[in-house]
Amino acid sequence: MSEGAPTYDLGKLHGGLRLPAEKQASTSRPILIAPVPAQLVLPLVQHVGQAAEPVVGIGERVLRGQLVADTHGSLGAPVHASSSGRVAAVEPWPVARRHGQTAPCIVIECDGLDQAIDTTEILVDYRELDPVSLRQKILQGGIVGLGGAVFPTAQKLMQAATLPLEYLILNGVECEPYISCDDMLMREYAADVVGGAQVLMHALELPKCLVVVESDKPAAIAALAHALGDIQDPRVTLKQVPTIYPSGGEDQLVQLVTNREVPSGGLPSDVGCVVQNVGTAAAVQNWIARGEPLISRVTTVTGDGVASPLNVLVRLGTTVAEIVALAGGYTERAQQLVIGGPMTGKSVTTDLVPVVKATNCVLVLSELPAVGDERPCIRCGECAEVCPVQLLPQQIYWHARADNERKLREFGLTDCIECGCCDLVCPSHIPLTADFRRAKARMRELADEKARARRARERFEHRNQRLQDERDKRDSELAARKDAARNAGPDAIAEILDRARHRGESDKDEDS
Ligand code: SF4
Ligand code: SF4
Repeated sequence: MSEGAPTYDLGKLHGGLRLPAEKQASTSRPILIAPVPAQLVLPLVQHVGQAAEPVVGIGERVLRGQLVADTHGSLGAPVHASSSGRVAAVEPWPVARRHGQTAPCIVIECDGLDQAIDTTEILVDYRELDPVSLRQKILQGGIVGLGGAVFPTAQKLMQAATLPLEYLILNGVECEPYISCDDMLMREYAADVVGGAQVLMHALELPKCLVVVESDKPAAIAALAHALGDIQDPRVTLKQVPTIYPSGGEDQLVQLVTNREVPSGGLPSDVGCVVQNVGTAAAVQNWIARGEPLISRVTTVTGDGVASPLNVLVRLGTTVAEIVALAGGYTERAQQLVIGGPMTGKSVTTDLVPVVKATNCVLVLSELPAVGDERPCIRCGECAEVCPVQLLPQQIYWHARADNERKLREFGLTDCIECGCCDLVCPSHIPLTADFRRAKARMRELADEKARARRARERFEHRNQRLQDERDKRDSELAARKDAARNAGPDAIAEILDRARHRGESDKDEDS
């Protein structure tokens, strides 16, 4: 090993690939701060969980940072206005999550003033809050996992808080080619990253934090080391790891830096760890220290289909078309627009989709990657060699094509992280990951169908039980009345006859 080379004290990561980084073009200049656009389009679903519900009306004036849609207690995250203006509509708009198909969005016509809400009520010293109150406060900031998973951060903390925990792991491992937003964020906002780490540690009463970065990011490492030197917090340690895709996956990262294996179907919290992306930590700090909810993010705009690749700090709700323009616009060869990276991103058919909490990268490619014709599996085993989850992709592939749900579960399809490594090495060009995505979607559908059938059966049984209870009640009342009549004395019989006579007379009166 050469002098000065990083040393690692790491657990074993199975499989994975060393991929070309392709990040030089977008990291050659500082993060550009995008201007506030004339219009913001804010989808009601920018997170895992239920859609947020609008809490503003059409025509209403809103301020930067104002709550515009809330979650009302379900799994989800609130949405805030990214600038000041007037609510123009709540209407369907193309979104990346659905490959450019539409979803409900709040549309705000900006007034150019960028006037913010009053933060005096919001700002508090987080150290004065108990962990439960701090987690509630983080929930109000609309913060979700910015590494791509977009799981609501506060709810992830709340789930984890029920278990014994040891490590907060800040994930600065940005191993997918082309994406460089976390690298640039760590270089330019390192103080926010480590400040956010301290807030998150307080929210979970955690004793240790590992900030994990790949060793090929020297500028980010230097900036983080400087920020850690400033805070002098011995609980927080910087850890370097080699660049192997997909070591930034949550379970893979836990294995790599703690040598603990997350159980199949489990979570990092099952082995005492909570993983948060570095961008999420910076967003938490921005909310807690400055009172600004999640209304902007750093996004990479890159690929050989844009003129000047860069990273841009952009208000959520700005369209992809606008940030591509900031990157010098499309080149003549631009052919494919992908939201996310080349391995896990989604192709979209329009650049009118807005930048949302999940938008880490806008990738414009000049030509579609050449994919050979699919051929039968030759059982070479290459796919199993590279699978970071130690699955047997070739077996899963057979069961996916046969739609055999039981076998798919048995072979661990639900643990597949859809990293795409198996596709990349398959000499038969079998689109394994696409098959696995479809099979997982089918399994979710089946699970939903089963849940719907179970609820319908429960409703039916409940109704039958209610009708039976009513019948039983009527029968027992009738029996009680009969008993009473049988046991009644002469006075009671006279009274019953009298009542019957009166009823007969009043019926006659009504008839006449
Ligand atoms: S896509 Fe799934 S099966 Fe294929 S290598 Fe990745 S985790 Fe393994
Ligand atoms: S890499 Fe492709 S050909 Fe080889 S075993 Fe896996 S699916 Fe079959």
